[in-house]
Amino acid sequence: MGLPRHENSGSCDRCRCIIDRYHGIHTDLLLWFSSFQMDHPEAHISCAGRGQHYQESMFLRGVSKAHWKRSAHNWNCALDLFCMIPGVPNIYFNNWFENTLGPAIPDWLLWYGRKGAPYYELPHVEVKNWQELVRGKTVRLVGE
Ligand SMILES: [Zn+2]
Ligand SMILES: [Zn+2]
Repeated sequence: MGLPRHENSGSCDRCRCIIDRYHGIHTDLLLWFSSFQMDHPEAHISCAGRGQHYQESMFLRGVSKAHWKRSAHNWNCALDLFCMIPGVPNIYFNNWFENTLGPAIPDWLLWYGRKGAPYYELPHVEVKNWQELVRGKTVRLVGE
């Protein structure tokens, strides 16, 4: 029983479980990640949607700077990534983020690990205009 393990299959079941934990992940974000993982099977997700309780507990622990509703994760518009490269124990391997993830970020996504990011957060990728989508009510709170 339990969750499947992350596997470098190009279409990781565990990553899919994390995405499917909440309904309604941003469609283009999912398509982008699926194709990125197909090309780079070492890419994985540690967090996608984030519910209220988890968001507030992360805020209290200082892991997130955002209260509930103020993070793109609360609106199914963000992913936190890591890499599983055989022989590389560091799942937050800087070279990989810079040379593999960085160039694969389309202009409608923001990666917080890029140089000059306002809030540096290596694993975090979010849909650039998520706040507009919230105002336009085209995205919903996680869990709703
Ligand atoms: Zn995975
Ligand atoms: Zn994040």
